[in-house]
Amino acid sequence: MPIRLLAPATINRIAAGEVIERPAAAVKELVENALDAGARRIAVRIDGGGIARIEVTDDGGGIPETELALAITRHATSKLTDEALVRIATLGFRGEALPSIGAAARLTLVSRPRGQDAAARIAVAGGAVSEITPVAAPFGTSAIVEDLFYATPARRKFLRSVASETSACADAVRHLALAAADVAFALSIDGTTSFDVPAQDRRARVAALYGRGDAEALVALEAVREDITISGFISPASVTRATARHQHMMVNARPVRDPLLRMALRVAYRDLIPAGRHPLAALWLEIPPEQLDVNVHPAKSELRFAAPDAVRSLLIGAVQRHLATPAGVAAAPALRLGGGGRASWSYPVPASAAARGFAEAETALAFDLPPSLRRPAPAAPIGAFPLGTPLAQLFDTYILSQIADGSLVLIDQHAAHERLTELRLRAERDAGGIASQGLLSPVPLDMADDDVARLMASAATLAQLGVMVEGFGAGAVLIRAIPAALGNADPRALVRDIADALADTGMAGPLEGRLDAMLIRIACHRSIRAGRRLAFEEMAALLRAMEATPLSQTCPHGRPTVLKLTRGDLERMFGRAG
Ligand code: ADP
Ligand code: MG
Repeated sequence: MPIRLLAPATINRIAAGEVIERPAAAVKELVENALDAGARRIAVRIDGGGIARIEVTDDGGGIPETELALAITRHATSKLTDEALVRIATLGFRGEALPSIGAAARLTLVSRPRGQDAAARIAVAGGAVSEITPVAAPFGTSAIVEDLFYATPARRKFLRSVASETSACADAVRHLALAAADVAFALSIDGTTSFDVPAQDRRARVAALYGRGDAEALVALEAVREDITISGFISPASVTRATARHQHMMVNARPVRDPLLRMALRVAYRDLIPAGRHPLAALWLEIPPEQLDVNVHPAKSELRFAAPDAVRSLLIGAVQRHLATPAGVAAAPALRLGGGGRASWSYPVPASAAARGFAEAETALAFDLPPSLRRPAPAAPIGAFPLGTPLAQLFDTYILSQIADGSLVLIDQHAAHERLTELRLRAERDAGGIASQGLLSPVPLDMADDDVARLMASAATLAQLGVMVEGFGAGAVLIRAIPAALGNADPRALVRDIADALADTGMAGPLEGRLDAMLIRIACHRSIRAGRRLAFEEMAALLRAMEATPLSQTCPHGRPTVLKLTRGDLERMFGRAG
């Protein structure tokens, strides 16, 4: 075949594959256009996962009638003033979004700049452009996308369920609404308002989108090094979620999903929170544009930093410094024992959390001993039990015990307890149903409407897990019961986690198929966290419970909960034996 140039429609379809990966990407591009147009209020409507319909309406500068045709032409943009691509001050600059959407879907633009008597409308469907017609509309622009990917069926096949596309769209709007807190935002999903927020300061915006309860605990963060600034809000180590859904990074007001920043956040919290938990964070990074390349990927959500190490260390240092302040933890760090070179920090659990716990009876502890190693008199003779008698608690995390043959046993208290609770829930379920305990008074919980909708849709299945929730007007649910096995676990934290898990696009599908994963998450809420100081009675009780439950020697994630050091092991380590 001879070499020939591709037809513009084909070129646009190929670009659409990169720019508009899924409905959420179209939503993001349209909202970015509205922000670039200086909108003060942006309303987004999403129907049928954004596949059926997306509508973004703004009150920004509008597109003059004479430029409407250009707006949907590839590589036509009003934004790029620096052709060297160094100082990019707008969210868009590639002139690709509208033509790409128009190639893959039915796109209608209605726009009326200030001073123009009427609005003008242009439509493009599968690349075919309509006439421009006058219509009545207020100042600003409306972009409507229908039947996304109808013209590119190859892409349509790769879409996930409507529910997960919906939540990806909602996440994209939430991220943009955080990036531009000074702009009013409304999101409606399938006809129901998800949020409707006025122009506000960042803290108020974070509170509106993360939920008031958690937002109150957030720690304000501010760090500057040379010309890089990081500011925003992070959660203390005691407030975590089951997914990273409440982590948002903005770089020069652009919402990004940058792996470097996410990893830095993980590193900063690594020693402070249990594995599998995620802090909340809304962070704004300001960096001179010449130290940044945003033109790495057509979706513009990945970046390249000229000095990645400086950014990484500034973020990690800032988070760790702020977590170590009185606002970040309930009290000063309790210990620092320089084991294998890596500093190991442990924070006292807040009084409210310590009050609930494995055994309700808290006994006085020997505070004159180094907190890392407390040694009371053994309660029973060594050897009476398979997992022995607790000798000490190390790092407020591991129980050290000695068994009959003299070997040392180390138990990961958090993993072991989580496993015990999970096995108990599982056994109850298999025996006919998880026992639930009604709460003395039902607990109301504010949450976003889409979270409420997902919870309500799963209410019957959750009831089988011992979790009873019901609707409680707009934007709230009422928690009536939680599994009895969870004791005094915080019902709000539990239901919030369940809502996050239901929204997690990686966990899509009917709840029935995910019951096991959900059960493990629920079990987590009864678990004594790493970092919780245990009384000796509690340690002994945990060991006895583990002996009665043989499967408890690995945690639900397959990691061991028990390690053993025999005499032989010690001799090898000391070089006494070969
Ligand atoms: P880009 O944003 O990279 O310039 P787009 O294809 O997204 O490319 O948009 C093309 C052009 O259409 C923009 O440069 C802008 O001039 C105009 N435009 C798009 N959406 C809007 C809007 N909501 N308000 C005003 N102008 C818009
Ligand atoms: Mg754009």
